[in-house]
Amino acid sequence: MQSTFTLPQSEIPTHWYNILADMPTPMDPPLHPGTKQPASLEDMTRIFPENIVMQEMSTERYIAIPDEVRDAYALWRPTPLIRAVRLEKLLDTPAHIYFKHEGVSPAGSHKPNSAVPQAYYNKIAGTKRLATETGAGQWGSSLAMACKFFGLECVVYQVRVSYEQKPYRKMLMNTWGATVYSSPSKNTAFGRKILAEDPKCAGSLGIAISEAIEDTVSSPNTKYALGSVLNHVCLHQTVIGQESLRQMELAGEYPDVVIGCVGGGSNFSGIAFPFVRENLTHGKKTRIVAVEPSVCASLTQGENRYDFGDTAEMTPLMKMFTLGHKFMPPSIHAGGLRYHGMAPTVSHLYKHKLIEAVAYPQTAVFEAAVQFAQAVGIVPAPESSHAVRAAIDEALAAKREGKKRVILFNLSGHGLMDMPSYEAYLSGHLNDP
Ligand SMILES: *Cc1c(COP(=O)(O)O)cnc(C)c1O
Repeated sequence: MQSTFTLPQSEIPTHWYNILADMPTPMDPPLHPGTKQPASLEDMTRIFPENIVMQEMSTERYIAIPDEVRDAYALWRPTPLIRAVRLEKLLDTPAHIYFKHEGVSPAGSHKPNSAVPQAYYNKIAGTKRLATETGAGQWGSSLAMACKFFGLECVVYQVRVSYEQKPYRKMLMNTWGATVYSSPSKNTAFGRKILAEDPKCAGSLGIAISEAIEDTVSSPNTKYALGSVLNHVCLHQTVIGQESLRQMELAGEYPDVVIGCVGGGSNFSGIAFPFVRENLTHGKKTRIVAVEPSVCASLTQGENRYDFGDTAEMTPLMKMFTLGHKFMPPSIHAGGLRYHGMAPTVSHLYKHKLIEAVAYPQTAVFEAAVQFAQAVGIVPAPESSHAVRAAIDEALAAKREGKKRVILFNLSGHGLMDMPSYEAYLSGHLNDP
């Protein structure tokens, strides 16, 4: 039986899908924090190049992918769609479990899908240096690689807890030529202020974003790049879902449920938005499920309101589900999911009940991750393992009902750089904060 579905390189999508074109109601615009008026082009181009700001605000349904970006995508795209037959057998379920394997990129996750176009657009806009933040190191390493492809300098503020827990990610960023600081750092005024108040501060994505933005506005020829949350980042990730639609066709099935883990929402958007489009415009009835960690659960426990994207209140205000920009998430092993807010697009869909959300504690997540690794062979990233947990629970629900259910989830990355987390789980030292 065929269990891996691949596409030729000629089927790398030619366009990104922009869900703004199909939203049931218009989205609330980002606001200038001082005036509370919609953020102007000028506000945004302080930190982003104009070509990316235009994309951020676009409501065009399909946006052409530049040839240079498709050429770089061809290094690892189209990614395979795999049916986890052994996992189905292990669970003894009538469900069919498919996953999209984004862990095959050079950086090991979906993040290069946006790092490459962001570096490209900055290059053609004349940017010389990009500053960014990274949680677990996945985004920082992806951007480091993409910057090298297009001849840009790259500086990364890495959340301290990951910097210390996951040293290989830093080495990878250094190998791709980036400069890496542990955040909070002594390199920015904001970092120094946090360290003065709490020298042991574990850091957060909100703090690291503030540091990267401060670096951007105080350095020449420098722009800022964000690895999730914003419309253009979610847009770039839609290559995942578009390929998945074609590959499910090859498999001769259509998913009853599509699942992705959510930190800022980008890999989930990537797999989900093209299926949301099918629900909205072609009468499909697929359930779309976002999975978050229970200790940083912005959709299931947050409020839908305007909030800052960072701790120091430097970003525009965005309308989103948020735990508050001062929220300090406990240091769980899925560092990439420790973000206080949720992409405005994902938040908007959730508000309109077009998607669902569930939250899991990390011990239940690692239990599923090990089960998946032993059945399928691939060691999932701790972030992706949230989606694995939800997929297994869907398969078990199908078993209880005695009915077939076609499940598709996004394996956003492999976990080969996250082995200390597995070691903690396997030795019984991992708990639920
Ligand atoms: C960064 C990351 C995530 C979380 O970020 P999103 O923007 O929500 O996708 C999930 N999985 C992996 C492997 C990551 O690196």
